[in-house]
Amino acid sequence: MIPYGRQTISEADIQAVADVLRSDFLTQGPAVPGFENSVMNYCGAQYAFAVNSATSALHIACLALGVGKGDSVWTTPITFVASANCALYCGASVDFVDIDPHTYNMSVECLADKLAQAEKNGCLPKVVIPVHLCGQSCDMEAIHRLSKQYGFKIIEDASHAIGGKYRGEIIGNGRYSDITVFSFHPVKIITAGEGGMALTNDAQLAKRMKLLRSHGISSDAADMVLRPPEQLWYYQQIDLGFNYRMTDIHAALGLSQMQRLDEFVTLRHALALRYDEILSDLPIVIPWQHPDNYSSFHLYIIRLKLEHIGKTHRDVFEALRAQGIGVNLHYIPVYLQPYYQQLGFKPGYCPEAEQYYAEIISLPMFPALTADEQDQVVNALRRAISV
Ligand SMILES: *Cc1c(COP(=O)(O)O)cnc(C)c1O
Repeated sequence: MIPYGRQTISEADIQAVADVLRSDFLTQGPAVPGFENSVMNYCGAQYAFAVNSATSALHIACLALGVGKGDSVWTTPITFVASANCALYCGASVDFVDIDPHTYNMSVECLADKLAQAEKNGCLPKVVIPVHLCGQSCDMEAIHRLSKQYGFKIIEDASHAIGGKYRGEIIGNGRYSDITVFSFHPVKIITAGEGGMALTNDAQLAKRMKLLRSHGISSDAADMVLRPPEQLWYYQQIDLGFNYRMTDIHAALGLSQMQRLDEFVTLRHALALRYDEILSDLPIVIPWQHPDNYSSFHLYIIRLKLEHIGKTHRDVFEALRAQGIGVNLHYIPVYLQPYYQQLGFKPGYCPEAEQYYAEIISLPMFPALTADEQDQVVNALRRAISV
């Protein structure tokens, strides 16, 4: 089976992890700040906090922005469930903004309409979480403009997008958002085994996220709310935090992978370009790229023109799997999940997202994918569509 995504691990990565195992610190050592500095410098952000997953990063990002009971957080339905769950963890409610039919990212028109309506009804969101699907940035300048008009904060869920650019600038620099989150799960652009990171340029948000990732405990006298005595062992818990720390074992892998981030993204671009060419005669829509964007191409999603194919979406998907192609589907609209339907969401809520869901397939896409394997994928698709 050719998987839809997989990590690329070098001997240098293995050595970096082995070095940590032989060192004094398996956690809370130098590899974590090393990884944080590497990502921070790459992105041009002022603060970065490594955590054990992007899910944890989204959680502490919401908490740092003050999301709580009675607040509303909006995101896109075409994302992994974690982009929405983070609001529920904080006791807030979640709502969904339909997608753009070309980029499949949150539609700025739908967002603007929904905000105008919410203002009338007195239920504006506290935070909006745009997700850079496949690594292609959302229209952040427009979303940022709306955030100033309506007074909400922005968390970029850039779990797919490290190494990508928006208007020529690296995603993660925070020009148009309050916090940016990356994921280092093995299918993503670079991996730490598991892991995530939250980046910001705001000192107050940075301080809160740092506390929240480690129990809300500080041993820095300047943070303490009670006058600190002078014992060396002293620390204060000043907030209710979590143990969301990343280990040095994971951070060493992440740091080592950072050396090849640009190379990985370049390889993904070459593969995407080749897919574009060899798929061009098939009755499908290939991934459209907005000229403002340089995607990191985490995923290569095709859309079946079912009206030109005498097969169902399910037929084509199953025929690909039966031929050893590990196709996948990103994503089932989050609000169609049983948990969200039980919260009151109903089918039909975001029609564009549901239309998209009925037609898409994610083809294998990872740096080590060979031209030969790509040909196998496309030949299998050709058979799946035409037989
Ligand atoms: C992978 C992913 C997450 C969660 O990442 P983890 O590191 O696995 O917690 C969140 N949002 C999106 C869009 C993702 O793709």
